[in-house]
Amino acid sequence: METVAPYKEIIDVIKANGGDAFKRCYQCGLCDAVCPWNRVRKFSMRKIVRQATFGLTEIESEDIWRCTTCGRCPQQCPRDVKQIESGVALRRIATEYGVFPPPVKPVRTISASLVGEGNPLNEERKKRANWAEGISVKPFTEGTEILYFPGCYLSYDPRLKKAARATANILNLAGVDFGILGSKENCCGESIRKTGDEELFKRLARENIKTFIDNGVKKVLVSSPHCYHTFKNEYPEFMVHFEVIHTSQYILSLINNGKIKINKEYNKKVTYHDPCYLGRHNGIYDEPRELLKKAPGLELKEMPDSRADSLCCGGGGGRIWMETPKGERFSDLRLEQAIGTGAEVLATSCPYCITNFEDSRLTLDLSDRIEIKELTEIFEELI
Ligand code: SF4
Repeated sequence: METVAPYKEIIDVIKANGGDAFKRCYQCGLCDAVCPWNRVRKFSMRKIVRQATFGLTEIESEDIWRCTTCGRCPQQCPRDVKQIESGVALRRIATEYGVFPPPVKPVRTISASLVGEGNPLNEERKKRANWAEGISVKPFTEGTEILYFPGCYLSYDPRLKKAARATANILNLAGVDFGILGSKENCCGESIRKTGDEELFKRLARENIKTFIDNGVKKVLVSSPHCYHTFKNEYPEFMVHFEVIHTSQYILSLINNGKIKINKEYNKKVTYHDPCYLGRHNGIYDEPRELLKKAPGLELKEMPDSRADSLCCGGGGGRIWMETPKGERFSDLRLEQAIGTGAEVLATSCPYCITNFEDSRLTLDLSDRIEIKELTEIFEELI
């Protein structure tokens, strides 16, 4: 099979996807200095930029799949080279040629599951609302104030269902008028887009948008920063605008408005990890910290790479579906940073971060040293 795209095609696709900015690169290397890959192995975004400028990118190279789209290098780049957009453009070419990162099967299986069942986890669509069994959660109908959109991982993953249930319990206690779409909900499509499958992203987005409009959805409450990002910043490409709010923001507002009362203390040291798509991509740094400060007794500790400098967990850009060998997992480094602050709990609010941190906790045998908590799980305990 041909695996090296003709150079003109590469340059044209990069241009068509806003990647013409590659040409502005003057090879300063500041991107490589901040890229988290260089904490675990040698990797050069600067080199990828250089190759792409001349249409010389080898699409069979594993390197084009490394970027987690964490957003660290665009922050540093003095020439506004759009590394993420251009990197995704390269993946689009690879996807069109049927070239996937090794091992190939997971990405193919994920695409098939997204097409067939609307989720990447090979779970049945009809079971999408099962996370809410035993809790009072109504189907969303026209006139309901808020659509709660838990997303794929909180709907199906046994660990993350706890966060969906915690969210619903908090909303119920606060008397919020909310509903869910259940089997009518589709994956938001953010991550498959970052793997280069633009057609599948558009298909998922259009189906969600039609469902939102048909059901009269105006305001969407999301648990995942990836859903937040794509609903807020990418769905407007389809000429629609829904009000989007993240659970960390909404629960803070419920406390501030007196809708929920905190009845217990949380006498633990907690550190907060900024998910890339909540922090760097969307500027939400303060609300999760303000929320944690509402817990009496909670002692908030900051890690060395915090807020805009947050160390990526490794799960963005579709990397959550790709193999990362032991010794190259950013989440291992992050767990060590969290423990280094003296924290007993690593709190965050992203399904990919929690999945990766829980994996690191197990593989590094750190279960006795630190707990991983979704913000809603902490507050469910206190009200
Ligand atoms: Fe090029 Fe920007 Fe990287 Fe410098 S930081 S090497 S200008 S892409």
